[in-house]
Amino acid sequence: MVHIRPRLAVSSCLLGQSVRYDGRHKRHDWLVDTLGRCVDFESLCPEVSIGLGIPRGPLHLTGDSEHPRVCAVTSPDRDVTAALQAEGRAVAATLGGVAGYVFKSRSPSCGLSHVSVLTETCEVVRNGRGVYARTIQEACPHLPVEEESRLDDAALRENFVNRLYTYQRWLTLSDEGLSAPRLLDFHARHKYLLMAHSPDGCRRLGRLLSRLRDVDLLVLAKEYLAGLMRALMLDSGTTRHFNVLQHISGYLKQRIAASDESKLVAVLEAYRHGEVPLAVPVMCLRRHIHCCPDEYIGKQWYLWPYPDELELRDHL
Ligand code: SF4
Repeated sequence: MVHIRPRLAVSSCLLGQSVRYDGRHKRHDWLVDTLGRCVDFESLCPEVSIGLGIPRGPLHLTGDSEHPRVCAVTSPDRDVTAALQAEGRAVAATLGGVAGYVFKSRSPSCGLSHVSVLTETCEVVRNGRGVYARTIQEACPHLPVEEESRLDDAALRENFVNRLYTYQRWLTLSDEGLSAPRLLDFHARHKYLLMAHSPDGCRRLGRLLSRLRDVDLLVLAKEYLAGLMRALMLDSGTTRHFNVLQHISGYLKQRIAASDESKLVAVLEAYRHGEVPLAVPVMCLRRHIHCCPDEYIGKQWYLWPYPDELELRDHL
């Protein structure tokens, strides 16, 4: 299966660029060395873009933790909130062909959650969101986003990359020209990927598509994308994957020898009991599909959701 190389926006400091307030960087090795082989980076540093120098005085979030302001730590009158919001809006307008964004955690500009806020009563609460990141999220609500600190968790990392590549396929569909048959085909090919995250979400999206003849295509497509990305955010987990693997193997049972079938069942059980990672039963199913092609199953993105070289399913 061919994967189109996604464009991924990333906080510049995570790519090893020395743009932080202290003139240093926060290079994320997996992002640069592994994911970087499969994606094209779009490096973005909002603080530098709004004209703050390197080095510069540190910033922090202050005030109402729901809607904090970004001010200089040592000169509280220096408020760059509006500049960061304007930068966020300007950048969001250029993200049409970008399939995801990885933000630097804990930054008053780029952090997605749990950023420290100094409240009016001089308490520090850790429920803030970076002002620039919030603006990007509000302008691009379906864009897959993640913080680098969460990419160190194997399941969260896989979840993000899965959303990144799915969103890229959506961008490709949009570029090629959205039509009712193409949208139905897109959904059919993502059925098992969706089931691995949210069987309910998969059913809901199927029901939504049954209204294709009655609703404006663009309106319905927007609703579909929102539901798709919401469903894929949900955790998959062994039980759901096992269920999907069983569904897929059910298609193959008629076509493969009895001895191969019992070996396949054994591999699925080994996965269910945590003896082998998800990559093993998936490879096994792929081999059978290669020998006994099935058009419907062979096109399922569940079996090839992103490049194998990322080895994400070796850790699930
Ligand atoms: S966290 Fe964001 S604003 Fe701060 S240095 Fe990194 S990219 Fe720039």
